[in-house]
Amino acid sequence: QGTQETLHLLDSMLEGAPIGFAFYDREYRYIRINQRLAQLHGIAVEDHIGKRLRDLLPPGSSMGVPDQVEALVQSVFDTEEAVPEKELVGVLPGSDETRTWQVSYFPVYSGGGLRWVGVIAREVTERKREEEAMRRSEKMAAAGRLAASIAHEINNPLESVTNLMYLLRQDPSLSAAGQEYASMAQAELARVGEITLQTLRFYRQSSYAVDVRMPDVMQSVLLLHNGRLKSPHVDVRQRLDEDSMLFGYAGELRQLFANLVGNAVDAMPTGGVLYLRARNMRRDGKAGVRVTVADTGMGMSDAVRRRIFEPFFTTKEATGTGLGLWVSEEILSKHRGTLLVRSRQSHFRGDRSGTVFSIFFPYDGVPRGPRIVQSAAQVLADHLA
Ligand code: ADP
Ligand code: MG
Repeated sequence: QGTQETLHLLDSMLEGAPIGFAFYDREYRYIRINQRLAQLHGIAVEDHIGKRLRDLLPPGSSMGVPDQVEALVQSVFDTEEAVPEKELVGVLPGSDETRTWQVSYFPVYSGGGLRWVGVIAREVTERKREEEAMRRSEKMAAAGRLAASIAHEINNPLESVTNLMYLLRQDPSLSAAGQEYASMAQAELARVGEITLQTLRFYRQSSYAVDVRMPDVMQSVLLLHNGRLKSPHVDVRQRLDEDSMLFGYAGELRQLFANLVGNAVDAMPTGGVLYLRARNMRRDGKAGVRVTVADTGMGMSDAVRRRIFEPFFTTKEATGTGLGLWVSEEILSKHRGTLLVRSRQSHFRGDRSGTVFSIFFPYDGVPRGPRIVQSAAQVLADHLA
């Protein structure tokens, strides 16, 4: 009777929980499951009880989700140790999209021994997809910057060699065979020239700078990170002047702020406050817009801060590319923006930590009128989107 009462209590606790919850016995059968998780499976709560996941899902339908679940449950029964924050990937009946769940398994003791294994599950498909899209566009931007700078570097010596080859061909002391070779070399050089030109052209598709409203940019950036701002909870405090405008490249500004906001969120794994500010102001006699992205996250050490603009420098092992700020640097210089970073780490409990990125864009950073500049970044990202 005591057990029954406990179970009822549990049921009512789990009923409304905004997170998937279940208990398994040693045969991987569901002892209890809440509404949220049952919904995830697309099967009613009562149909779960006493059944295994593999009995509920049509065979071969789920990319081995039941196998993964059983292996995790078994490992908790074997080791009596929790498996925290693991990612499960698979499909569920009802749609064939690949989904990702973050799951934690833990031992449940009762009557003096390990009795069940519990699971907490939350769907993170959307967040995964957003992160993937971010990473892809960062990589594209980086590839663009690299290709364009190599093509640019090749162009200069190439021009000299082309001129020298021309002079060589005019040299009367050259034999007939020498003339022939020089002319072949010229033709090949022309080909190399064509390739570098095309690379530059491809990565710098003509595009126009436009008037960009900062509140709009931030709005679209927040939309992009929407999923990641909800859990853990990030409190977004915005103070964006309605008239804070900039003449610039909208797609690239969005990329720049998407990374700054993404980094801020990454720095607050247990939640925090994200501050977004934009206002018109003057700095060093120049009128422009100052945009600030600040977080109450973990901050960074001086050693890290010195290296954040290096390509491939990241402290985020699996999820980082280390390209975000490197790419941002180029976008900034294209707008003649300047950036200040301040960061502190708390060394004592109660100390405040966090990071502030503050950017100043002068209004005349990008000259009015059409220009042939648009990074690789945007062109490719738009192309692949
Ligand atoms: P990535 O985000 O892929 O790691 P970035 O170039 O965007 O690459 O950032 C490089 C590094 O700078 C991060 O890995 C992190 O160590 C540090 N960093 C950037 N922004 C912040 C921030 N707001 N708080 C703490 N560290 C940060
Ligand atoms: Mg980043």
